[in-house]
Amino acid sequence: MLNQLTIKEARERLDSGQITAAALTMACLEKIKQADGQIKACLLVDEVGAVKAAELADRRLAAGQRGGLLGIPYLAKDNILTKGLRTTAGSAMLASYIAPTDATVIVKLKAAGAVLLGKTNLDEFAHGASTEFSAFGPTHNPWDLQRVPGGSSGGSAAAVAANFCLFALGTDTGGSIRHPAGFCGVVGLKPTYGLASRFGLVAMTSSTDVPGPLTKTVEDAALVLAVIAGHDELDRTTVKRAEDDYGRAMNLESIKDLKIGLPKEYFSAGLDKSVVQKIKAAAAQLEKLGAKLVEVSLPSTKYGVSVYYIITPCEISSNLARFDGVRYGHQAEAINLAEHYALSRAEGFGPETKRRIMLGTFALSAGYYDAYYLQAQKVRSLIIADFDNAFSQVDLLLTPTTPHTAFKFGEKAQDPLAMYLEDLFLTPSSLAGLPAISIPAGLIGNLPIGLQLIGPKFSEPLILGVGEKLQIKI
Ligand code: GLN
Repeated sequence: MLNQLTIKEARERLDSGQITAAALTMACLEKIKQADGQIKACLLVDEVGAVKAAELADRRLAAGQRGGLLGIPYLAKDNILTKGLRTTAGSAMLASYIAPTDATVIVKLKAAGAVLLGKTNLDEFAHGASTEFSAFGPTHNPWDLQRVPGGSSGGSAAAVAANFCLFALGTDTGGSIRHPAGFCGVVGLKPTYGLASRFGLVAMTSSTDVPGPLTKTVEDAALVLAVIAGHDELDRTTVKRAEDDYGRAMNLESIKDLKIGLPKEYFSAGLDKSVVQKIKAAAAQLEKLGAKLVEVSLPSTKYGVSVYYIITPCEISSNLARFDGVRYGHQAEAINLAEHYALSRAEGFGPETKRRIMLGTFALSAGYYDAYYLQAQKVRSLIIADFDNAFSQVDLLLTPTTPHTAFKFGEKAQDPLAMYLEDLFLTPSSLAGLPAISIPAGLIGNLPIGLQLIGPKFSEPLILGVGEKLQIKI
């Protein structure tokens, strides 16, 4: 089945003329038709556009062009703008919104000849860790349809796990690529903040938002990163730096010199024994290759979730002020302007998004700003300092992605705190802007569990190189 290929495998076959981009695209579209009725990963499938893009890719191949993502079919999370195609961000607010422009990552993928198949489901405005907060209904985990795929990029992770596409784009603000990658048994890479452009993402938390790939293998994540990374005049927080060789295979000699940190706060008492066992097995594997394991401490880890759930609602309340029923999205029928604003927002936003807007507005208001927002920013610097300190002793950190495997629908949706604690191991690296990857670490029962590698800023080549040595087929 062509849709089951990795990017690397498809690349070889496309370049040697063994298969066409059109056939590869059709295989993906057929798989979506056959299985998405149950999984519900896609909010939109653009069959006509995909077939056209595949034909163009085949003409480029026929003209001798090769390599990269030429002719590779993918899906994009629906908070990434696509010109002429609906972008909902999983919200009733944007149920019929059509963006006038493509996000920079989409522009880059188009130029590379990748084939956009459609858009994937997410928690409303990427607020969540289960995809249950989508206004269009939840996505189901392909490993067990009674369970959530994680979130907020749950549609993208489920789509890759179900072989709907060869890769998918997600966004990660506090774990939204890594969390569902862990729950669905795929690879999810959150690049360093500022490595890939945020232009054209529906903004959530501008100080931590990053787009990144969800793939079947670590090598594939490197191939996608190579296309989407780079400075963008339209996002002045992207950095200007020489291109890295992400696909470079790590030679075994260099693993011998590596020090891998195991942060003790990420292996605390409450953690499931079977999860610890999987991560320790990965650590042992690295040790066998010659790396040195070192226990490190990141003492401010315990503040990660609290700090994140002050700072992100503050930025959300500011970023979502633009949805006023006038310029974008849902417009209520109202008798005057004040009511128009109020009703449009009341009708357009779901409960979790409203909760975050209210929390953020409160934390930023006069009299509370110092006690909450400013204080949270100070503790954020402690979290950053913890990582700086750790990376003066070790090259990379190895942790679990999540404390457990995928949970059942409804288990946490009514309890915001339980849902927020899903991000325990994910928010600190987001607050510090560091790159991190989730890789399948094996199965517990019949469900996948992920391991996470976190590195210093711009250490993607190292993370990918070591990740490649750790990946196992599940
Ligand atoms: N689960 C986290 C949240 O709800 C992460 C979201 C994200 O990274 N977009 O905020």
